[in-house]
Amino acid sequence: MEKKEIFSQVIHMEERIGTFHDELGELKEQLAMLIEENHSLALENQHLRKLLEEKEAKEPENGTQASSGGTKSVGEGYDNLARLYHEGFHICNMHYGSLRTNGDCLFCLSFLNQK
Ligand SMILES: [Zn+2]
Repeated sequence: MEKKEIFSQVIHMEERIGTFHDELGELKEQLAMLIEENHSLALENQHLRKLLEEKEAKEPENGTQASSGGTKSVGEGYDNLARLYHEGFHICNMHYGSLRTNGDCLFCLSFLNQK
């Protein structure tokens, strides 16, 4: 093999390693995003499970709930939503139940102030 040929092969390999390194960097970024997303979803899931448990504790007999459902006070529902919002979750139609990651949400606030 000629020296020139070997040299061009080394250059070529170097380029491939560079590309590979870039791809690795992108994958690392995506992995970080996925881990973050997974964390948010786990939190959200945990929170929703807690809400569900509370709801089930309050309504032990689902069969009779249908007839008495209309009597539940509006104030209680509002308090739950306000608490949910202050714990960092959306209560608006747009993103209901998901984590608020960018501070206050105007949709949620207008919903809260409506009542
Ligand atoms: Zn919202």
